Amino acid sequence: MQFHKSLVYTPCIPSWASLEGVRSVHHLNVWQQSTQLTVMMVHLVTDSRTDGRAVLQAASELVSGSRYNINHATIQIEQTTAQP
Ligand SMILES: [Zn+2]
Repeated sequence: MQFHKSLVYTPCIPSWASLEGVRSVHHLNVWQQSTQLTVMMVHLVTDSRTDGRAVLQAASELVSGSRYNINHATIQIEQTTAQP
């Protein structure tokens, strides 16, 4: 079956935003490296009180799970310096 991966992963955005401490998401890119390998890159902006490692862990589990099944994800955590 032929389809555009980018369309498949567009609904992923609300899931990112619902993660604990995540304020916004940008630079979301998903592409098919080969028939066996799907690669994702995304930047998550968190507030200054959030543990970046915990967000990274939750985000990694989200994309590698059965819903998205992304083999290789590069996730960058950006903490805002602004106070809530
Ligand atoms: Zn960024």
